[in-house]
Amino acid sequence: MNTDSFALRHIGVHEKDLKRMFEIVGVNDLEELISQTIPDDIRLSNKLDLPDGISEHEFLNHIQHLSNKNKVFKSYIGLGYHESLTPSVIKRNILENPGWYTAYTPYQAEIAQGRLEALLNYQTMICDLTGMELANASLLDESTAAAEAMTMLYDIRSRQQKKNGVLKFFVSEEILPQTMSLLETRSTPLGIELVVGNHEEFDFSNDFYGAILQYPGKYGQVHDYAAFVKKAQENDIKVAVAADILSLVLLTPPGEWGVDVVVGTTQRFGIPLGYGGPHAAFFTTKEAYKRSIPGRIIGMTKDTDGNPAMRMALQTREQHIKRDKATSNICTAQVLLAVMAGMYAVYHGPVGLKYIAKKIHNAAKVADGFLQNLGYKQLNSTYFDTIKIEVENSKEVQSIAEKHGVNLNYIDSKTISISFNEATSSHDLKVLMGIFSSIKEYNVEKESFMVFANQIDSISDSLKRKSSFLQQPVFNSYHSETELMRYIKKLERKDLALNHSMISLGSCTMKLNAASEMLPLSLANWGNVHPFVPLNQAEGYQIMLQELEKQLNVITGFAATSLQPNSGAQGEYAGLMTIRAYHKSRGDSHRNICIIPASAHGTNPASAVMAGMKVVVTKTDEKGNIDVIDLEEKVNLHSDNLAALMVTYPSTHGVFESSIKYITKLVHDNGGQVYMDGANMNAQVGLTNPATIGADVCHLNLHKTFAIPHGGGGPGVGPICVAEQLKPFLPSNPVVETGGEHAITAISGAPWGSALACLISYGYIKMLGADGVTDSTKIAILNANYIKERLNGKYDVLYTGEKGRAAHEMIIDCRPFKEHGIEVTDIAKRLMDYGFHAPTVSFPVAGTMMIEPTESESLAELDKFCEAMLSIREEIQHAIIENPNNVLKNSPHTLTMVTSDTWDFPYTREQAAFPLSFVSENKFWPSARRTDEAFGDRNLICTCTPIEAYAEV
Ligand SMILES: *Cc1c(COP(=O)(O)O)cnc(C)c1O
Repeated sequence: MNTDSFALRHIGVHEKDLKRMFEIVGVNDLEELISQTIPDDIRLSNKLDLPDGISEHEFLNHIQHLSNKNKVFKSYIGLGYHESLTPSVIKRNILENPGWYTAYTPYQAEIAQGRLEALLNYQTMICDLTGMELANASLLDESTAAAEAMTMLYDIRSRQQKKNGVLKFFVSEEILPQTMSLLETRSTPLGIELVVGNHEEFDFSNDFYGAILQYPGKYGQVHDYAAFVKKAQENDIKVAVAADILSLVLLTPPGEWGVDVVVGTTQRFGIPLGYGGPHAAFFTTKEAYKRSIPGRIIGMTKDTDGNPAMRMALQTREQHIKRDKATSNICTAQVLLAVMAGMYAVYHGPVGLKYIAKKIHNAAKVADGFLQNLGYKQLNSTYFDTIKIEVENSKEVQSIAEKHGVNLNYIDSKTISISFNEATSSHDLKVLMGIFSSIKEYNVEKESFMVFANQIDSISDSLKRKSSFLQQPVFNSYHSETELMRYIKKLERKDLALNHSMISLGSCTMKLNAASEMLPLSLANWGNVHPFVPLNQAEGYQIMLQELEKQLNVITGFAATSLQPNSGAQGEYAGLMTIRAYHKSRGDSHRNICIIPASAHGTNPASAVMAGMKVVVTKTDEKGNIDVIDLEEKVNLHSDNLAALMVTYPSTHGVFESSIKYITKLVHDNGGQVYMDGANMNAQVGLTNPATIGADVCHLNLHKTFAIPHGGGGPGVGPICVAEQLKPFLPSNPVVETGGEHAITAISGAPWGSALACLISYGYIKMLGADGVTDSTKIAILNANYIKERLNGKYDVLYTGEKGRAAHEMIIDCRPFKEHGIEVTDIAKRLMDYGFHAPTVSFPVAGTMMIEPTESESLAELDKFCEAMLSIREEIQHAIIENPNNVLKNSPHTLTMVTSDTWDFPYTREQAAFPLSFVSENKFWPSARRTDEAFGDRNLICTCTPIEAYAEV
């Protein structure tokens, strides 16, 4: 046995386990199971055309070597991305800590109080710095957040029925180029008309419903927008501002002008550049818009005992429920990065943030003074961190700067801008000034240039921030490393993540996120690359990204891949937009019908609506498959206008539908394209693929199938892979050349999306190789069918394939227990007492659970989970008598409850907390009792309590 093999570490089930598993499943070998699971006509006949796997050691050497091909320059490019310093205590205890990065989105609040608190801190920080009332717990990047602002305000406009039919949205010419591109992408299908211009010349005419401004402007000029906002309000024009979060430490926050939305990125709060991402964007608005705000909001509520507890608020707004009424498709966001950025504020506090902001501002002032002294003209009258310089010849400056390892922003042949950041040292300043001195033949050593700093007052009084911020205790308590380390640990201990036990969330594929896949993220040569550097400085990245694209082409059977989308939902949107562009290129702009099965994930209809398509829902039959007769009817009815079918494969019911080839052909024959939602790709890799089933485009969730950790709800990467005819339309970027020959405008701000996170999937495929990725699929299917058979007779599996097999996941029906008063939620919460996170609850069928074990779990862990489920099944049987005061309804049981002097329950403490012997070996204590959703939604509190509230008590 080759114990160097990474597959051996990634796949939890080993050779010795197989005999017993085959016996239970009732097959002789793996091939027999697979052939009973996947229809013959879509099986791949050849092994994947990928190299053999390499060992972890070889991979780490390889990735180090590759990183050396990136040239790490000092980048003063700005444009929304700035070098930042990740405090080591945050890097080690969060970014590099599986207790944080392997957690899931906090749907099960009682075992997620740690990251919920961290996110509440983040929301508080955003509200305080922007001067706004309500922030969400992150969006994908600044540019998509700006687009979300545009569409939210559009939605509010029509809802208030004030400006129904008003379609114009003003975009300041100061907006970042990538944001401009995204606004174009997102406005076109909705019929929103963008008008770009100088905000000082805006006429506030009645045909505008909203406007967006950039603060400071793209090249650093700080405008006072107070008068603009006032006039806009008088004319019922809603205003969004894209703001630099760090600048708001020194500048008047937009909330104080009364704006409606503020968006931006928190990248410069300690998050590596990573050649474009992942970073957390923020979105903050007025409380009045709480039901329209995109993304997730963390809020306070109380638990069963009346103790304060946190949970995701207003979940009924989510696209899962709104579906084709949704105005946003955001699902996965950037939670891990939001946690880090929030913790950066906890670590530095208001005093530290002021120090950092002033230091940066001062660097800009020093450079301004020095350059003016040299005879350069500085064009920004008010600035925070960016100066704009007139030069004789930008190209000349560029060639000298690059020799010194420096990148500036070359605006045109005569103008450049220079953005300073937290990492700019006095040595860096000297090098930078040396570049300009050499052009003017001046010796920088002769002058101590610090003296120039104080001569310039670059922020006028009306723009100086006077209000205080981050006065809450949490931002004023943990400034030593020991204190912060312990605070992070305290939160981590409240959260159940993959480093505790299996998280069998159907559709979410919570597999191993291997340490060797994660380690490269900490290397400076991957972290410190600005997304807009010349390609020759990012050779390591380019090699890695191109190879990952190739790997994904091979796995999907498609012609090309775009890595730009930052989540599965963004991938859906990107894929549908390429379909839209394809139809348009053939003179078929009228094709706008998107057929979606009733069982689809909520993001599907939401994405279709955003892409300007009309959703037609097709039924599922009693076996959970697409109802082919109904589909035929709908396809025929809409054949003239059919744009696409969106189909999840294997279906969200965990089944490989055998009619899939007929279905895709039917759609093609009627002029439509087939979009495959690839969230379930873990059941396909190496055995079948989207091209084979007849799809034209799919997204992949690299944060599901390809080992990027969920991070508590992001980062994600949602590339789209397309067939030849859609390749020309792959998305572009306005700054760096990428995408197809007839590329659509941007889907994300950065040309290759979250490039840094792509290293993880690259490593996953590279280390597993052709056999390893295929074996992973097979074992994922085996594990699911093993659980299915072990629960057989105790829980009904809702749907199976023609030969009675599940794919890589299965749905168990919990609705029959309702007549005994037991809900699916009771089972989910009771699992916590056994040390398990619940499977997916009530998706895609209400009252059910969807279990997906993945290939990474060992037989021992699968058995523990099954024993817990079987034990709960017996408890349900008993609960019928004791109802409603029973062990299920009262779950989860906290340590406080179990150790309390009073115990009023008709079962023992041991039954409550240690129901099976394995539980006590590794007990996980939920830190809250059941949280009250309705109370929290009625009393929405989404920030930490301000210090004044403490002072009153
Ligand atoms: C996870 C998932 C999505 C959405 O992906 P995100 O990355 O969360 O945006 C879409 N469809 C299905 C079936 C999924 O499971």
